[in-house]
Amino acid sequence: MTAVDLATRVPADTASAPLAAIERRHGMGFVPKRDVALVRGAGARVWDADGVEYLDLTSAHGVAALGHAHPRVADAVAAQARALVSCQDAFPNDVRAAYLSRLARFLPGEPGRELDRVFLCNSGAEAVEAALKLARLSTGRTRVLAARGAFHGRTMGSLSATWRKEYREGVEPLVPHFEHVAFNDAGALDAALTREHAAVLLEVVQGEGGVHAASADYLRRAREMCDERGALLILDEVQTGFGRTGRRFAYERRGVAPDLLCMGKAIAGGVPMGGVAAGPRVAPPRPGSHGSTFGGNPLACAAALATLDVVEAEGLVERSDRLGASWLEDLRAIDSRAVREVRGEGLMIAMELRARVAPVLDALARRG
Ligand code: PLP
Repeated sequence: MTAVDLATRVPADTASAPLAAIERRHGMGFVPKRDVALVRGAGARVWDADGVEYLDLTSAHGVAALGHAHPRVADAVAAQARALVSCQDAFPNDVRAAYLSRLARFLPGEPGRELDRVFLCNSGAEAVEAALKLARLSTGRTRVLAARGAFHGRTMGSLSATWRKEYREGVEPLVPHFEHVAFNDAGALDAALTREHAAVLLEVVQGEGGVHAASADYLRRAREMCDERGALLILDEVQTGFGRTGRRFAYERRGVAPDLLCMGKAIAGGVPMGGVAAGPRVAPPRPGSHGSTFGGNPLACAAALATLDVVEAEGLVERSDRLGASWLEDLRAIDSRAVREVRGEGLMIAMELRARVAPVLDALARRG
C-alpha cells in the first residue's frame, strides 16, 4: 500500500505529533520517545500516523523475524482468541502441547545434549530469570559468571547479569554472587570459573553490546570448562534466535549446545512470549519453585506455532543467511571515512560509525 492509500485510511487526528505528546505525558518515561508514531506494519515496512512509509531496519528490536503482521500469525491468533485465550499451567492444553513438542524438535541439540524440556514465559528477561533459577536449583550453587558488555534484561536477576552501569545505577543492590569477565576471552573465563559456580551465562552474539560475536573456539572452551567444573552453560539467544543470524540459533554455527537456552523476541511472531529450554544436565525443578500466570498461554502458543510454520515453510533461516551475506558485502563496499566497521552474522548487522550516530539515524528516517 502506498503512503497515499494509507493516508486516506488514517483519521486526521491520529497524526504522529499528538500521539507522541500523549505518550510523553502519560507514559512512564523510561524510554525517550521519537516523533514518529507507528500505526501499521506489513512485512519489512511500517507506516506512521501521517501515512509515511518506512523500511524497518530495526526489526522492532529483533522481534519481527517474519516481518510485521504476518497473515499466518494474525489468523492463528484470531482463531485461538475465539477458542481459548488463557489456560493455567496446571491444565494441559492442545495448542501448548503441540507447540512444546514442535519447539523441542526445532531446537538444535547434540547427542546427549537434547534441549527437550521447555518452560514458557512472557519475555526475554523472564526467560533469563527462569534459567538462573534452574541453574541454582539444579547445581545447589549460587555464583554466576556473565560477560562484560552483556545485556540480559532489566529485571533484578537478569539485570545482575547485564553489564552496563547506566542500567544498574540507582536500583542496586542487585542479586549477589554475579561476576563479569571479558567476553570472548577463554583465558579470562578459565581464571574466573570455579567449582562453586552454578552457571556461565553468555550471548552468542552480543546484541545490545554492539553485535560482537563469540568465536566457535571460545564457546567450545566455555562448554568444556563448564563440564569440567560442574557449572551449567546458559546461552541467551533472546535476540539471536529463530533465524536472525542465519542459523536457527547462533550456537548451531559453532557446534556447541548449551544446558539452558533462553529465547524471546521473535519466538511468537511479535506476540509476547519467552522460553527457556533445558538439556539433560539440568535437574528437574522442585514443583512450585517457579511459575507464571500467563506463561504458555494458548494465544501465544498459537502464534508461536504459526511462527515456526512460517520460518520452515518460507525457508527464513536460509534466507537470513543469504540476505545477510549480501547486505554485509554491500555495506562493506561503502567507501566512507565515517564508517569504522561493519560486522554481523545473518541479518543481525551493525555498522559502527566514527561520527555521532543520532543525526545519521534521523536523516535515514527522513528518507524512509
Ligand atoms: N537477552 C537479550 C540478549 C536481549 O537482547 C534482551 C532484550 O533486548 C533480553 C534478554 C531481554 O528481553 P525482554 O526485553 O523481552 O525482557
